[in-house]
Amino acid sequence: MSEICDLCRREIQENQQEVWTTDVGEKFVIPCSDELWIEATTINGDIVICLDCYRNKSLESFSSVELAEIHYEFGLEFFGKGKIQTAKNCFETALAYKVEPRSLAALGNCFEKLDDLGEAKHFWSRALAVDPVCLEARLNLERFR
Ligand SMILES: [Zn+2]
Repeated sequence: MSEICDLCRREIQENQQEVWTTDVGEKFVIPCSDELWIEATTINGDIVICLDCYRNKSLESFSSVELAEIHYEFGLEFFGKGKIQTAKNCFETALAYKVEPRSLAALGNCFEKLDDLGEAKHFWSRALAVDPVCLEARLNLERFR
């Protein structure tokens, strides 16, 4: 099953394969893509957005809550690919639309990777201030106590 971008209707090519191993040692192959794309929750349900659309299409039809989600999700994808500076920009943009503990915590994680522990702790603390049970922020702060 391949994904279709809901904005440009383009099929996202699944030209890569990943081999996963289960707990009992069975191997199975899943198709995946080396393209970046996300699934975001909107008022019209879950939609898929490709990187081209994220970069080049007007996203102004989305609400600020949806935009916060879209930028946050792309931030996670970039972070996962080791593109920390780009991920940081996404999380900062997400926060400009809506201040959410998950984006604050994720931004802290970026600063940690960029060797700026002072800023990392600042954002993890802000995440905890917004949401005292934000597990990610709390665990990260405890690591550096
Ligand atoms: Zn697209």
